[in-house]
Amino acid sequence: MAGLIAEARARARQPEALVLRFREHMAGHGLTILGPPADTRIDFPGGSAFLTLEPGGIALRIEAAEPDRLADAKSTLAGHLEAFAPEEQLGIVWRGLGEGGPVAGDLGRRPHNFRVARVARVVEVTPRMRRVTVTGQGFDRFDAEMMHVKLLLPEEGTGSGTAPEPRWPVLTASGQPDFSDCALARRTYTLRRVDLARSELDIDFVTHGDGSPGSRFALRARPGDWLGVAGPGGGNIPLQGWTLLAGDETALPAIARALEAMPAGARGQVLIEVADAAERQPLAHPPGMPVTWLPRDGAAHGERLLAAVRAVDWPAGRDQPGTASAWAACEAATARALREHFGQALGLPRGAFRAAGYWRQGLAEGAAESGAA
Ligand SMILES: Cc1cc2nc3c(=O)[nH]c(=O)nc-3n(C[C@H](O)[C@H](O)[C@H](O)COP(=O)(O)OP(=O)(O)OC[C@H]3O[C@@H](n4cnc5c(N)ncnc54)[C@H](O)[C@@H]3O)c2cc1C
Repeated sequence: MAGLIAEARARARQPEALVLRFREHMAGHGLTILGPPADTRIDFPGGSAFLTLEPGGIALRIEAAEPDRLADAKSTLAGHLEAFAPEEQLGIVWRGLGEGGPVAGDLGRRPHNFRVARVARVVEVTPRMRRVTVTGQGFDRFDAEMMHVKLLLPEEGTGSGTAPEPRWPVLTASGQPDFSDCALARRTYTLRRVDLARSELDIDFVTHGDGSPGSRFALRARPGDWLGVAGPGGGNIPLQGWTLLAGDETALPAIARALEAMPAGARGQVLIEVADAAERQPLAHPPGMPVTWLPRDGAAHGERLLAAVRAVDWPAGRDQPGTASAWAACEAATARALREHFGQALGLPRGAFRAAGYWRQGLAEGAAESGAA
């Protein structure tokens, strides 16, 4: 892998244990691990990372074809090592070499995956869903199979068009974004639409009151308001054979994008729980993927969804790889119940199903279980 190179050293009292943990974690993500632990190579899309044991530490080297891949890998490698050894002071400081020679250090620069955006317009999709269209520069990185982003929003959610831009995150020496100086809330959303020709992103916000940064931002957004967008990450939907897509309104943008991307001959079922019948919206979908709306009409979150998923009529041989798959996203407790249903009750093969908790009842995003909402 030619092109760009970054190097650093991680000081560690138990470097071998740290490398083993990192190898195991990356293998779990399906990456190829090569060589013995003392001389590890991990290939990732667009590059390779090398971890070589040294007395008292690990020599780190990343080779990548593109600057974005290099920056992603620096952040991933350093971020994981730091997370796996919280008691250590690894002291990772990247030195970067580009094709044409040394490139400037990252310290103090904005993260490579971060873009400043401004609200262009806001439309009401349904009474409880607002589509906020944002514009900005360098949005091509968002045109990816991965469809989730972290939005950086004003804590108070006030219209910010006339306010000065906040302090945006900067990179630490180890390539991590440092948010400590920015009074911004971070919330995860799906890019409902990416339009590179117009340099626009659509984000569909569920509005659930004025008391939280995400919902409040959507309720108050005006053209010209700023926000930060970081990503994209995660979120491709496994499709194998007959496919169930299920979720609540927070999953609607992801389900809508998945349906638009599906081949015309796709077969399966779509179950979407919403507050009430007014929350239904037109969705383009293959004819073999009928959409069923499940209005809560006052029932508890997830109750209707769980019941409907449990009543699904699956094709024969669903426990055989390639026959069937399921993807779901909703409130965390329901997601846990769905995961158990897909895996234990139905016996879908590992890798053929996913059920993600998109929000947690009573807890703000990022709050610890014992934390306040
Ligand atoms: C990968 C991913 C993709 C997502 N995509 C979208 C998306 O495209 N659109 C979208 O609207 N959401 C999406 N979500 C969910 C969204 O991140 C959460 O709902 C988030 O908590 C909203 O932030 P907030 O500031 O409004 O509320 P928070 O400050 O996080 O929470 C405050 C309170 O509101 C409650 N709460 C949070 N969300 C809801 C809700 N939907 N309904 C009722 N109560 C709620 C919490 O339980 C808490 O008590 C996604 C989440 C993930 C992980």
